[in-house]
Amino acid sequence: MRNRQPKSAAANNASTKRPEENTGRKPKLGFFSFTCCQGCQFTILFLDNLIELLSKFDVQYFHLLKEKNRESDFDIAIIEGAITTKKELEKLMRIRKKSKFVVALGACACHGGIPGLRNFIENDQLIKYVYNQHMLKDSLETKGIDEYIKVDYYLRGCPIIKDEFVRFLDNFAENKKSEPFNGPVCNQCPKRGNDCFLTKKIECMGPLTNGGCNAICTVDNFPCTLCRGPLPSANFAAEIKLFENFGLTHQDIINKLSRFKVLEEKKCCKIEEKKKIETKTDSIDNKTDIKK
Ligand code: SF4
Ligand code: SF4
Ligand code: SF4
Repeated sequence: MRNRQPKSAAANNASTKRPEENTGRKPKLGFFSFTCCQGCQFTILFLDNLIELLSKFDVQYFHLLKEKNRESDFDIAIIEGAITTKKELEKLMRIRKKSKFVVALGACACHGGIPGLRNFIENDQLIKYVYNQHMLKDSLETKGIDEYIKVDYYLRGCPIIKDEFVRFLDNFAENKKSEPFNGPVCNQCPKRGNDCFLTKKIECMGPLTNGGCNAICTVDNFPCTLCRGPLPSANFAAEIKLFENFGLTHQDIINKLSRFKVLEEKKCCKIEEKKKIETKTDSIDNKTDIKK
């Protein structure tokens, strides 16, 4: 699987102004949800100033807020959740065609997120354990939405950061550009007075991760888990080596790195794992041959 991070970085660095002239009408907004826990949507629903914020828009589609929803043309479509079925993919394509500006909301939409863990389970295992086996017929490998459509802006995190969402939407309503945070979580973390986890040999993925969350986890004494997705410049090889020096097994490291995104590196490591398994199998085969 390709790492789509450079694409997302380019999108957020591009102009986020509304493409149309200021006509005085409210921008038409659609909010859509695909496979996810809807935690990002609930983060929005619990905003204190939600009514005030949405009053700047003509909300055409928002299932958890409105009884009647219409798939009209949208000035902005906000999309939560990963794509995991053919049916979802069709709807995603339809939304893109109808929308001038598309926002990926949260880790699931930005890069697959937690639902991406499904990609590491073989279909025969899923058939055995998943409650609705009919769903598997329609099932696709879990992917973030930019694997299929052009995304104009990324609001990251699992869940998203409230203030970041409000700032972005306010700017959009006023036809102003939003500036995404540029750099890793480590750019914000020490400024908040933290002792670095890495100096204590505790694995923290801040150096690999898109910043902008104000290092909320490390401030609360939790290492960063890469929920805002990897930076284009993320040096996975160095981080893997460092964690191995901390005493972690290769598999544990890969599991940690893959919690929120199916990575190229996971694939590389899968190849390494496969090689190891093949070597083991070869040696077993050789032994069997000797016995023969
Ligand atoms: S990014 Fe996290 S909180 Fe948001 S919908 Fe996905 S799993 Fe839920
Ligand atoms: S604790 Fe984590 S996020 Fe903070 S500076 Fe160290 S590596 Fe970076
Ligand atoms: S510190 Fe890391 S895990 Fe926590 S919100 Fe920020 S990016 Fe996500």
